[in-house]
Amino acid sequence: MNVRRRLAASRINTAGTAALAATALAIGTLSACSSDSNAAEGEGGGKLDVVASFYPMQFLAEQIGGDHVSVTSLTEPGQEPHDLEISAQQTAKLQEADAILYLKGLQPSVDEAVGQSEVKTKVDAATLTKLEDLGTEDGHEHGEGEEEPAGEEESALDPHVWLDPVKYAEIAEGVGKALEKQDPDNAADYKKNTADLVKKLDDLDTAYEDGLKNTKTKVFFTNHAAFGYLAQRYGLTMEAIAGLEPDSEPSAARVKELQEEAKADGVTTVFYETLVSDQTAKTLAADAGLKTDVLDPLEGITDKSKGDDYFQVMQANLTALEKALGTK
Ligand code: ZN
Repeated sequence: MNVRRRLAASRINTAGTAALAATALAIGTLSACSSDSNAAEGEGGGKLDVVASFYPMQFLAEQIGGDHVSVTSLTEPGQEPHDLEISAQQTAKLQEADAILYLKGLQPSVDEAVGQSEVKTKVDAATLTKLEDLGTEDGHEHGEGEEEPAGEEESALDPHVWLDPVKYAEIAEGVGKALEKQDPDNAADYKKNTADLVKKLDDLDTAYEDGLKNTKTKVFFTNHAAFGYLAQRYGLTMEAIAGLEPDSEPSAARVKELQEEAKADGVTTVFYETLVSDQTAKTLAADAGLKTDVLDPLEGITDKSKGDDYFQVMQANLTALEKALGTK
């Protein structure tokens, strides 16, 4: 099943979605013939075939795996990851991977598909660091009309760990170890790449610490409660207009509360993100006389992103926070 693909029969650019779709289709047609056939597809060209659930997982796999891996993401650039529905083709792709890297609790549809996949190496980033219930103001709205008292505790955990460079580094260490185990021949490279990445994340952590130490206010508003770990790490208070899901609407009472808090805490800016509508943030900002700016939760990189990768966007986020909080 999880055969390493050393036969590069043909060179297919695995990053190309067309090639991917074609491969997935071929697999589908072969009706659940899951092992040897794909070696002949040449997919991955002898590289470890890693399927990542969304951008922050993809970035880790690429950075740590380097030349030894071929990484594909289940979430397309620009697609809002929380609501992702896995296609039949992607389910097939999940069966064919050498390793799956995902973050349990973020994308229910991915969790389900990964659970059903027989791939041996399934790396759940949520087990590599500590997830917490950060108790965002507006409660936890996971999925539509979901009323599950039994599952409540689990779903209250905030999955947005990658926005804290320290937690993201912890996940990187775990991913590095998983790749070393999966592909011992290249263990030395994975080790080195992991160390390099962790060093860069340490530097990013220092930049945040320094940049956010002395600010006029510690409070910021955002339309998507993605920055709880970041806020906690750097002594800030995130007030989310809506809940953990970016597209939920605030109540009138909540809007009034936020307006009063903006006055009391010297809040200058309502942040919104690029992947969902900014209407709620803009309305609130207009009503309360505040500015708006982008704070990117890095759930995907698009042309509209303020940078080409995790580090560039995190740096842009830091600049935006410094401006909004009034770094002295
Ligand atoms: Zn999110």
